[in-house]
Amino acid sequence: MSPNHPQGGLQARWQAVRERVDAACRAAGRDPAEVGILPVSKTFPVEVIREAVSFGLRRFGENKVQEIKAKYEPLADCAIDWIMIGHLQTNKVKEVARLVSEVQSLDRMELAEALHKRLQIEGRVLDVLVQVKTSTEETKYGLPADELPGFLDALRSFDTLRVRGLMTLAVNSEDESRVRTCFRMLRELRDQAMASGHDVPRLSMGMSGDFALAIAEGATEVRIGTAIFGERAYPDSYYWPEKPNPV
Ligand SMILES: *Cc1c(COP(=O)(O)O)cnc(C)c1O
Repeated sequence: MSPNHPQGGLQARWQAVRERVDAACRAAGRDPAEVGILPVSKTFPVEVIREAVSFGLRRFGENKVQEIKAKYEPLADCAIDWIMIGHLQTNKVKEVARLVSEVQSLDRMELAEALHKRLQIEGRVLDVLVQVKTSTEETKYGLPADELPGFLDALRSFDTLRVRGLMTLAVNSEDESRVRTCFRMLRELRDQAMASGHDVPRLSMGMSGDFALAIAEGATEVRIGTAIFGERAYPDSYYWPEKPNPV
């Protein structure tokens, strides 16, 4: 059985993923309690998310603001934390400031400024992760790694943005060493940032196909869609332009 064609009900698949994540932790000599799973519910309907809520999930990753907006009201009774993990256009910050609990795709100053302005109006503070580009040409989005120190310093002046760590998408490759290099780079950037006084312990890295490598390199949370919810109906390119192309 391919891990990306999971069998059984949603709760069984969730448990199977949790077990695979725990096994990857033990293989890496890490405590499974150190690694969270962010279920990525994009393209899946509210009934499926409601079922996941019924067995205890409360945080869901989405990569489009429009989709969070559409799901927010029908699921308002579920007290969900919506986590924005996709490329964010500056003209969408109004909805983000109102509906989202955390942004993992903060990748440029223009976006930080726009979010800060809007969050001041809403009177809210948001947890954010800085998305860093760790592969050379394959991903469209993410802050260039050499700009990270300056970016983190500059973010200190935005008191509405609580920077908690870093996020990345690895190169999409069969070559495990190339994938691992991306994850290792993010961990090293995190370690350097911590050494210069930034409180950014979190590393959001790893998806259905590469989470074991991410865990081996220090991920504190993995973002899992397909292995929990099943294959998505649309090709990734349709709604996820930032996904790395296979190389
Ligand atoms: C969709 C998505 C994921 C999950 O990908 P799967 O391969 O389905 O696990 C992870 N991160 C981001 C940014 C995504 O958009």
